[in-house]
Amino acid sequence: MLENLPIVEGDPLWALLGQFQADQREHKIDLLVGVYRDETGKTPVMQVVQNAEKKLAEEAESKVYKMLSGHLEFNDHVAKFLLGESKKLASQCTIQTVGGTGALRVVGDLVAKLSPNAVIWNTDPGYLNHRPIMEAAGLTVKTFRWGHKDGVLDLESCFADLKEAKEGDILLLHGSCHNPTGVDPTLAQWQQFADFCKAQKLVPFIDIAYQGFGDSPDADAAGLRLLAEQMDLVLVAASCSKNMGLYCERTGVAMVITKDTSQHVPLRTLLERITRGNYSVPPNHGAAVANLLFSDPTPWLAELTVYRERVRNLREALGEALSAIGAPASLQVITQQKGMFSLLPLSIQQMDLLKEKHAIYGMQNGRINIAGLQQSEVAYLANALVDVLQ
Ligand code: PMP
Repeated sequence: MLENLPIVEGDPLWALLGQFQADQREHKIDLLVGVYRDETGKTPVMQVVQNAEKKLAEEAESKVYKMLSGHLEFNDHVAKFLLGESKKLASQCTIQTVGGTGALRVVGDLVAKLSPNAVIWNTDPGYLNHRPIMEAAGLTVKTFRWGHKDGVLDLESCFADLKEAKEGDILLLHGSCHNPTGVDPTLAQWQQFADFCKAQKLVPFIDIAYQGFGDSPDADAAGLRLLAEQMDLVLVAASCSKNMGLYCERTGVAMVITKDTSQHVPLRTLLERITRGNYSVPPNHGAAVANLLFSDPTPWLAELTVYRERVRNLREALGEALSAIGAPASLQVITQQKGMFSLLPLSIQQMDLLKEKHAIYGMQNGRINIAGLQQSEVAYLANALVDVLQ
């Protein structure tokens, strides 16, 4: 069997991380991995999470399996966090998953079972793991351009590419803080996506991994809520990795929002069968922590606000530094983008130069994690960007 082992290329991100670690220059900057960092470069455990973990440890009675749908109270809380006051809160069917990645795969498996010829329409550029997850579920992935004009999403090119989509295809959109571009639709543009899906009979699938990192938890879910209100079917993959800092605890949900609850019994059974044939039940710890955070959300949301403000302040400072040195507009749009990521308008060669000459590490496609930056490094980065662009 092993004689058939293919030579698989390693993940370029880890190769770059290795280079960063080996780099001896003291002023090196790591803008690679998509995790939140504080001003000291650490990815802290939230104070509210530490408190919840202590409480859970003190009160633990049993580690016995939970339900196939996971932690049911947690599922209800996430559904409320995602959908707010929407009347569609009453028509969602939600199961806990192994992080947002697990949610994407469960939804992919669901689509593959119910509509195997449906094409997944993915943004280009997009989240690097969407295609492998959907292809592993046996689905075909096609792409549509996700560009911008002066920082505003270029819907014309989206719809031009999506003209090829056929009835029943799946439109995979990022709920907020698009990875890697940071370019999000305005609410009016979300409405245009809803109208387009209705006209072309497409099913929206919202991957929401950064709720609370853009404008606010409610504003970041506004596009999802609009679609949920207006469409008979919306698929959702949500993650608590970033907004609760629960990365390694693998905490998320897969949600199907339907017209009413009439098909929820077979739907839930199918979702549970999908997970049963994979990992059986999801891990409980992250969901138990998240459940406590949702039960008393004020301190958690206050910590999340600090995270969001830090990233926003960094964007503003970078924008000011770029404008002070007369950087081109293509760089200054960084201030308008949402969440942790921006896609620099730089070629692979320019990203290499950024690394070799300035010890600044971003992904080869130009993605940088703004949260990896410290205020004291902003001017250095701005100058380096202008330098490599010349
Ligand atoms: N979707 C997007 C757009 C992401 O950026 C990520 C995480 N990088 C995920 C899903 C997966 O999240 P998780 O770590 O919870 O699996």
